Amino acid sequence: MNKLIDNFGREISYLRVSITDRCNYRCIYCQSEKEFEFIPHQEILRFEEIVEIVQEAVNLGITKVRITGGEPLVRKGVVDFIKKLREIKKLEDISLTTNGFFLSEYAEKLKDAGLNRVNISLDSLQEEKYKKITRGGSLKKALKGINSAFKARLLPIKINTVVMKGINDDEVDDFVNLTLRRPLNIRFIEFMPSGEEVINEFENKFISVQEIKEKLIKKYLLNPIKISTANGPAKYFQIEGGKGTVGFITALSQHFCKTCNRIRLTSEGKLRPCLFSNKEIDIKKAIRELVRDKRRISQKKNYKG
Ligand code: SAM
Repeated sequence: MNKLIDNFGREISYLRVSITDRCNYRCIYCQSEKEFEFIPHQEILRFEEIVEIVQEAVNLGITKVRITGGEPLVRKGVVDFIKKLREIKKLEDISLTTNGFFLSEYAEKLKDAGLNRVNISLDSLQEEKYKKITRGGSLKKALKGINSAFKARLLPIKINTVVMKGINDDEVDDFVNLTLRRPLNIRFIEFMPSGEEVINEFENKFISVQEIKEKLIKKYLLNPIKISTANGPAKYFQIEGGKGTVGFITALSQHFCKTCNRIRLTSEGKLRPCLFSNKEIDIKKAIRELVRDKRRISQKKNYKG
């Protein structure tokens, strides 16, 4: 089995693939309110090209793939794409991050196609606030999506909650209480600056997860716990008697570079080795040529045969 080791001796085993820049939401921490242009369709990698890249990555030592976006479930053909990924031998884990809006329609189909599990973004448990944060989203649909994920056994289910001061930090206890009732893994994520308009808002909304954790420690007994799929930056805890877990992702206040095991692929075919750097390696041209050549060879074979 090959291993992908970077210049700092870290083993890179996890590939995060964005399959679209389109999203049905415009979350306040992620997108600006202003109109913006989407990447033209022809510049977005085709599924066939992504499958080829993942196959090569697995040959090099990647064992886990996460599908994300934009919102991955807005892209047509996503179920067949997961099926193709599932055919890649030695790819151990396929997961998907979604806002949950379309999940109730897709959960069973995704499971049947070979998806292992989902992460669902959920930043408020209050309908009006949820709508405000997502700029028009539906909490009801997200909760329905979570229920469908349970039914389809897309487990373990991780919930991503970006905590923002004065916006949803008053709901931390409500999220923690959810883990008492249901086997959900709630991950409190620090708000990271991304995009000009979002950065302008950044200073007064940032709250470190350390601060959140300290408040929780005063109220609950947090037992450190390992969860089987936790290969990322989150540290998990279980409240005494709880069914789920609470995790903390300290993206800003404590960098997790030393233990980083991931690489990212953007929807337009750029490899991003580091979340905190703008450095990208454009592999679209190379992969388009490779896929084209392979197609020609197979057409020739079929013709002769
Ligand atoms: N549309 C999908 C969703 O909503 O889960 C997938 C894409 S979304 C960009 C992936 C994750 O990035 C979400 O869980 C969200 O919480 C996180 N994220 C986006 N912008 C962020 C920011 N400025 N700070 C912290 N987390 C952020």
